[in-house]
Amino acid sequence: MSKKDICSYNYEELRAEIESIGEKTFRSKQIYEWLHVKLAGSFDEMTNLSKALRERLEKEYEIPKVEMIDHQISQVDPTEKFLFELADGNMIESVLMKYNYGNSVCISSQAGCRMGCRFCASTIGGLERSLAPSEMLRQIYQIQKMTGERVSNVVVMGTGEPLDNYDNFVKFIHMLSDEHGLNISQRNITASTCGVVPNMRRLAEEGLQITLALSLHGSSQEKRKKLMPVANKYELEEVLEACDYYFRKTGRRITFEYSLVAGVNDQPEDVKELTGILKKRNCHLNLIPVNPIKERDYKKPDRKNALEFKNKLEKNGINVTIRRERGSDIDGACGQLRRRHATAD
Ligand code: SAH
Repeated sequence: MSKKDICSYNYEELRAEIESIGEKTFRSKQIYEWLHVKLAGSFDEMTNLSKALRERLEKEYEIPKVEMIDHQISQVDPTEKFLFELADGNMIESVLMKYNYGNSVCISSQAGCRMGCRFCASTIGGLERSLAPSEMLRQIYQIQKMTGERVSNVVVMGTGEPLDNYDNFVKFIHMLSDEHGLNISQRNITASTCGVVPNMRRLAEEGLQITLALSLHGSSQEKRKKLMPVANKYELEEVLEACDYYFRKTGRRITFEYSLVAGVNDQPEDVKELTGILKKRNCHLNLIPVNPIKERDYKKPDRKNALEFKNKLEKNGINVTIRRERGSDIDGACGQLRRRHATAD
């Protein structure tokens, strides 16, 4: 029988589990603290448990492996990229970005992705599998442990579509913001989706306070379809309604993301259409000059054009920023480090 993933039990579940093997409740508190506060990677470290209990845990449970196998530090800004190997050999990547307000970690929610966005490196090999809550948490734990600095913000914008791994993703958010764990405020957590409408609506009803970012990328249904296959399934209008619903239910302003692709979605008509979409909404627009990947022929607009695009939107009353590029020297764009490893030989 395979071992149970002890790091994916929430506080209550761990208590029930530990009671079910005949141990006292305070043991489960100790174990939870070892896993989610002291960030232990093995049962051996849990020195306030008896040797017999540690051996028993070792036999029946596992702390899923999220092992750092590559670490790149940018020379151009305070950004570090990590490649982690999972127990089954899958690779995932995470990014640490240091800001003056704190340390932000960008994590992956799946190994690979099946959403197929045309400009994204993460999706090229398709979906391998979804990650367990423990595997999402431990990306953050490993980075916090390695740097010795508290992680204050988390963005779920690495490889994968979080709303295609719904239950594990929601559990992860609860555990990450649990006072018995790292206790990261939900207001400091952002998750990005390509627009899986039914799960955006479900998420709105979870009673969470996280920020939802929508990958928009096209200013019309037609344009969106060219870049994002998911648009064949959900009409732009439905996606926007789901965003409005999220805002109504949570009071959290939506962030729209828009990867600027030269000659594709950076035209004057796009400014007009985008203004029409965003003007009536309480939202923020993040422009991301596309990070070219070698498998596709997309180019980013030059700096001047991107600025012009932004200025026009601003003049139309849109709340907009161009996202500062980070770690451009270390395979900064989603999935590029993992991809480079996968194609190294
Ligand atoms: N599946 C989620 C999270 C993935 S990535 C989503 O689609 O939102 C986070 C953001 O980076 C998304 O907006 C994604 O479209 C964007 N992105 C992916 N590859 C990119 C690239 N090469 N250049 C610029 N943005 C990219």
